[in-house]
Amino acid sequence: MKLVFERSMPGRGTRYLPDLDVPVHLPDAAARQAALNLPELPETETDRHYTALAGQTYGVNNGFYPLGSCTMKYNPQINEEMAALPGFTQIHPLQDPETVKGCLEVMETLEKFLCEITGMDAVTLQPAAGAHGEFTGLLLIKAYHRERGDMARTKIIVPDSAHGTNPASASMAGFDVVSIPSDGNGCVDLEALKAAVGPDTAGLMLTNPNTVGLFDPNILEITRIVHEAGGLCYYDGANLNAVMGIARPGDMGFDVIHVNLHKTFSTPHGGGGPGSGPGGCKAFLAKYLPGKGVEGSIGDVRSFSSNFLVAVKALTYILSIGREGIPAAAENAVLNANYMKEKLKDIFPMAFDKVCMHEFVISMEKMKEETGVSALDLAKAMLDHGIHPPTMYFPLIVHEALMVEPTETETKETLDEAVSIFREICEEALANPQSMHEKPLHTAVRRPDEVLAARNPVIRYDFEA
Ligand SMILES: *Cc1c(COP(=O)(O)O)cnc(C)c1O
Repeated sequence: MKLVFERSMPGRGTRYLPDLDVPVHLPDAAARQAALNLPELPETETDRHYTALAGQTYGVNNGFYPLGSCTMKYNPQINEEMAALPGFTQIHPLQDPETVKGCLEVMETLEKFLCEITGMDAVTLQPAAGAHGEFTGLLLIKAYHRERGDMARTKIIVPDSAHGTNPASASMAGFDVVSIPSDGNGCVDLEALKAAVGPDTAGLMLTNPNTVGLFDPNILEITRIVHEAGGLCYYDGANLNAVMGIARPGDMGFDVIHVNLHKTFSTPHGGGGPGSGPGGCKAFLAKYLPGKGVEGSIGDVRSFSSNFLVAVKALTYILSIGREGIPAAAENAVLNANYMKEKLKDIFPMAFDKVCMHEFVISMEKMKEETGVSALDLAKAMLDHGIHPPTMYFPLIVHEALMVEPTETETKETLDEAVSIFREICEEALANPQSMHEKPLHTAVRRPDEVLAARNPVIRYDFEA
């Protein structure tokens, strides 16, 4: 497809305004020296260009999008309608608080609900993404140990089934990361945890449900072991979708948490933002929270009120589905994942064949060995069937992984259709392995060289060429 610059028809652009006929007084330094190179197209052509571009994208509104760990659920339109109200959009961050009391109430109400859902005592809406929430939460842990003069606590324990952002955030926050292995069931190895904790333990970060989609059955024991060693417990609640309204991290012994509003709380994502990763903590850590302007605070981690409209959407979602809807959404997310898992497991080997939470992980290692068809080949083949592939090659502890998260917003009919597509592709792979390396055949872009694109990104259009 041509770029809009390549479609440009000089002199034939859309102009509604007449030429300027008054003198312009601009200092030379501020005036543009060369004309701005903008494409010129009639309105019809402009419209067609962007409509064609939009047609090449794929979102939840196009179809099934089981991208594990991302919770690509359907976002009700009412969220957008609320976030588009002028009272929310036509405000300025420097406005007198007296004039934006409604907006402040939105934030306070959301904070209160998030406390209730997570079992925490205080929440900050500042962090603009999940990893940002992790970083913020870790700074609370650091401030706590520092204030007690316990400077030896420099290590954060991270199980190998954690989300990749956990070790990265711990490192960014200035901690040393201690990785501990999973046991044969995909959960934290308690003996390894006991051996890892000590007077240098600042805390533990646990992704729960973990990245293989399992709820750790020893969760109370885990938080007890860490607390007894003097560390604090961090709960990565980015995917609270299987847990919300059913169980609360605060009741499991966790001191600090973040949640992703752009996953669990129904804000569209996947295009790079805006997101929101509120952080929560128990009362004894509340004074360190950012944005509260109190002594002891770690300071602001984001300007102004962060991505406020995401908070509006999350609050709309929570209020519209209500106290009954929140646990029902979690139950259906778990039901849908287990339904698909059971319908697939005879031909798609499960990494851990147990009752899962909101997602499950397939391992195509055996198929790769026997036929040469990889998880990537299967994922690419799904594109030809008009569905978005699952997450691939994550978590790292499962080889040839496909991580499937159907979410609660899909109908049984959609799940059945996806199951039959998965099965059809698997059968084709067994019958004709060679054909799988060519897929997809029917998409605008087929198999880009991802390594070259990452190593040598071309992100500016070369007008001279
Ligand atoms: C998505 C996710 C994150 C990171 O969230 P971002 O908003 O992408 O920074 C962290 N932990 C888990 C478990 C996640 O699924």
